[in-house]
Amino acid sequence: MSNSVEEMSKDLLISRRNGFFDVEDSVIAEADAFCEEYKHFLNTSKTEREAVRYAVSHAEKLGFVPFDPKQTYHAGDKVYYNNRGKALILAVIGEEGCKNGVRIAAAHIDSPRLDLKPYPLYEANDLVLFKTHYYGGLKKYQWTTIPLAMHGRVVKRDGTCVDISIGEQPGEQQFCVTDLLPHLGNEQMTKTLAKAIEGENLNVLIGSRPVRSDDGKDLFKLNIMKLIHDKYGLVEEDFVSGEIEFVPAFQAADIGFDRSMIGGYGHDDRVCAYPALEAIFRCEHPKQTILTVLADKEEVGSDGNTGMNSSFLKYFICDLARQEGLAGYDVLRKSKCLSADVTAAYDPTYASAYEPLNSCYLNNGVGVMKYTGARGKSGTSDASAEFMAEIRKLFYDNNVLWQTGELGKVDGGGGGTVAMFIANLDIDVVDVGVPVISMHSPFEVVAKLDVYMAYRGFLSFFQA
Ligand code: MN
Ligand code: MN
Repeated sequence: MSNSVEEMSKDLLISRRNGFFDVEDSVIAEADAFCEEYKHFLNTSKTEREAVRYAVSHAEKLGFVPFDPKQTYHAGDKVYYNNRGKALILAVIGEEGCKNGVRIAAAHIDSPRLDLKPYPLYEANDLVLFKTHYYGGLKKYQWTTIPLAMHGRVVKRDGTCVDISIGEQPGEQQFCVTDLLPHLGNEQMTKTLAKAIEGENLNVLIGSRPVRSDDGKDLFKLNIMKLIHDKYGLVEEDFVSGEIEFVPAFQAADIGFDRSMIGGYGHDDRVCAYPALEAIFRCEHPKQTILTVLADKEEVGSDGNTGMNSSFLKYFICDLARQEGLAGYDVLRKSKCLSADVTAAYDPTYASAYEPLNSCYLNNGVGVMKYTGARGKSGTSDASAEFMAEIRKLFYDNNVLWQTGELGKVDGGGGGTVAMFIANLDIDVVDVGVPVISMHSPFEVVAKLDVYMAYRGFLSFFQA
């Protein structure tokens, strides 16, 4: 080591500069190109069911076939396991199979939104509305007075499925939640952000014209139900067996004069799901068997049979193990996983929420988060020093721009990912994901360079 301060600093200290300066212009161009199809994915996959459909249709074009636990698979075989249309596992069988463990990239494809209640339809003072129950951790005031689209599936009593998407096509009708005009908002304006818009006020405006008739009641509600029936064949009771989600109707857009960022709904966690998909699509001959998992229900705690707290991933790996004559737990304990979920990006407008030394920043690459959680690192998987070092080396060796940090200030709040559910299966896990500004809002922002680096990170992990 030289004795000059400059040399010593270079050898001993982290040099912090914007990630842009660490990559060539050609990499910036690759990142911009990569994100074009990502925006298409965002626009066409606003719900977990739509994301699964997108993934399956692309996977099938690339030779993925439905997984059959009774089959014997060989290196290079590509399979997928569609869990009830709402979660998905894609796998490419490795040269070594799974005897040395599998490599997993696990993202989630559900996002905060407004779900319909079982009996949603009502009229009030000659307006027709839907009652909703919000899904996930959202700031309710952000969901008023924005254009909403209606997505989802209703299953009729006879079992027929009706898939709905209204409000995405140019010129198509949209919906909205109303808010009080400021002129009459004196009392509302004295309330806190948490209280100003109540959950029961997130009612979606869906009509204002009645059936033309001189008698009868509920004529406004009846007219809207008739329009829904004419188009989809539904009756009011069918909503009881429906999963209808109201999501922001806007399309993803480049943000900034330099087009360096993308604004859109549902980056959390499609911004990790898409790179994890692309990585498995483009990794042809992995040494170990590789898996991309797209999970549902993360935003409500990962419970339920399509969430990562269920056993579907474990059972899938056990099926892979069995056909190679291995015990499932032997494969699980040797397996490794990147829990692919977003992290908070530093926002100078809300600087006081962050600890600047340990925050992730836009354009500094994919975030590698040793732990998430809240209140003294509770509710998280704290990745081991050994596994952190392994991923750190992997990313260095493969020119993956990466950064690390925490989710805001200590005791400022907190959050979790699917990492702990996978770690609880005796798998080595670390969180690796894209930093997001305005997370959980209807219009989240990410940097294109970070999206691309997530892809490069997952690909290098699969190729290791
Ligand atoms: Mn997430
Ligand atoms: Mn989230």
